[in-house]
Amino acid sequence: MSIFFVLILIVHLLCVNGLPKNASSTCRCMPEDSCWPSNDAWTKLNSTVSGKLIATVPLGSPCHDPGYDEEACNILQETWPRVETNFPSPYSVFAPLFQGNSCLPYTPRDSSCTIGKNARFAINVSTPADIASGLAFAQEHNLRTVIKNTGHDLLGKSAGAGALGIWTYNLKNLDFLDYTAEYYVGPAVKLGAGIEGWELVQAAAAQGLKVLSGSCTGVGVAGGYSQGGGHSLLSSQYGLAADNVLEWEVVTGDGQHVTASPTQNSDLYWALSGGGGSTYGVVFSVTMKAWPDGPVAGATLTLTPTNATTDDEIWAAVKSYHTHFNSWMEAGATSAHLAGYRSFELFVLTWADHTKDDVRNLLSGWQSDLDAMGMPYNLTLTLFPTWLEHYANYFGPLPYGFPWLSKVQGGRLVPKTTLTGNLDELISALRNITQDGVFQVLGNGMDVSNTSRAVADNAVLPAWRRSAYSMIAFANWDFNSSWSENVALEDRITNSIDPLLRSVMPDSGSYLNEANPYQMTWKEDFYGANYDRLRSVKTTWDPYGLFYARTAVASDEWIESPDGRLCRTAVPS
Ligand SMILES: Cc1cc2nc3c(=O)[nH]c(=O)nc-3n(C[C@H](O)[C@H](O)[C@H](O)COP(=O)(O)OP(=O)(O)OC[C@H]3O[C@@H](n4cnc5c(N)ncnc54)[C@H](O)[C@@H]3O)c2cc1C
Repeated sequence: MSIFFVLILIVHLLCVNGLPKNASSTCRCMPEDSCWPSNDAWTKLNSTVSGKLIATVPLGSPCHDPGYDEEACNILQETWPRVETNFPSPYSVFAPLFQGNSCLPYTPRDSSCTIGKNARFAINVSTPADIASGLAFAQEHNLRTVIKNTGHDLLGKSAGAGALGIWTYNLKNLDFLDYTAEYYVGPAVKLGAGIEGWELVQAAAAQGLKVLSGSCTGVGVAGGYSQGGGHSLLSSQYGLAADNVLEWEVVTGDGQHVTASPTQNSDLYWALSGGGGSTYGVVFSVTMKAWPDGPVAGATLTLTPTNATTDDEIWAAVKSYHTHFNSWMEAGATSAHLAGYRSFELFVLTWADHTKDDVRNLLSGWQSDLDAMGMPYNLTLTLFPTWLEHYANYFGPLPYGFPWLSKVQGGRLVPKTTLTGNLDELISALRNITQDGVFQVLGNGMDVSNTSRAVADNAVLPAWRRSAYSMIAFANWDFNSSWSENVALEDRITNSIDPLLRSVMPDSGSYLNEANPYQMTWKEDFYGANYDRLRSVKTTWDPYGLFYARTAVASDEWIESPDGRLCRTAVPS
């Protein structure tokens, strides 16, 4: 047995079995350790960041003694599963597995309410200097660091027990500009790291422009979304969000405040544009291309099977959808569909700068098939004069009208070639996943194969360029069921759904923002051939390994024990 392996084993055993109170420097300090910063040290940090340090109070605490507040608790119980409930909190996150069950609003008033998996303190940053001070403090005291923007992350990457949080949500600057560089000349927008999709879409509309953002109106644009790739209803025409980035303003792991563009710190630009959030630095702002606004045509088409319709007939209609799919995306449309047990809905088809007739013609092949099959359906066509109106119609009313609820999920990028060469196997997998009515499958379709539209070479997973749609298999989290019943759904994804999807689409990957947090093959699935280069960029810009997030580049160099303590699996050289 090599010395190296023995070292790994010792570190692992310490982490799993509990550390002595004076934690080793191979593990991050936790509040119960003697290495945890003193009150004086926290007070000093608070004064360095001009009073912007916030101590954690669990979001669910109004439902528990001693601070029980009936009215606030009732509101929390109603809104808890909704994503936007977490936005105003510096620590709380949407993904229930990582939000944890240490202070739920549904448990009895006198049951315990603890900080659990949340960060201990967070800095409500408003300047790059605030960020640099936070990072220096974390480095000096060997603390876990997390970056939280909106808390949307489905893989729990913006949460961390015992961490110092860098909370970017209130960085709300927005400036439209005429950008001139050797790689782009034209309209652009510089936005603070806390800007949400709906804020950007609304502000751009007032300028006669449109800019890419996520379908969920509250997804932060500059955070995990653009850094992880970022798909939009406009992506078949304009590429992924990462393809639209002109420059990043970043505080890196070693505290430098830098610009990363195709011509300045280009390795960092490359990595941030698709290589995942919370890995190389804290983005303070991003500058992105803006596009002229104009009319946007759309459609929904819902199958309405009768009791007499057989399952086989429904799946034949879904198969027909897939046979037409590539041509729609290649023409410049995008789609979002939802398949469940005996249900299928194309709930938004988007085609900017086209007409209702264009959409009608686009869908006519599928409609003819449905008519020939005798499959009933409802079709609605829309045309709005602006992108904002289309977006608000399908995902509004703004800001948070569309109910996005807590779930567990796994996903895979469905290659175009699967639709042409392996469709029966795909349909059979969809049928298998949805058969018992617990799981549904969402598909976000787009063609982002044209890399010449990207501002510059970037770290978007190569499998994206070959894909027809990003598939998410999900089950809603049921707060009326036990924790273990919900976790069993997550296990089903890891042990059954992921392997099934991988067997049908072995040469693809997964969108790192919408995949299973416990995906066993995450390195190749989320980063593919880019992984080694991303790892080396991280060494340059985060030399102390300050940033850790589950499934982020280099996260396999840490082990997280059940209490959230992070320990290195290997001693850095
Ligand atoms: C309801 C819902 C709808 C979604 N719709 C879409 C969609 O249409 N298209 C799409 O592509 N994705 C979509 N996503 C996925 C989304 O892109 C990711 O969840 C993304 O990580 C959210 O980024 P955030 O910054 O808002 O969230 P957070 O959870 O706050 O952060 C996400 C990750 O980015 C890191 N991070 C945040 N801010 C910064 C920063 N300033 N610098 C460095 N790292 C940072 C965090 O540490 C974390 O690792 C959706 C997710 C949900 C829950």
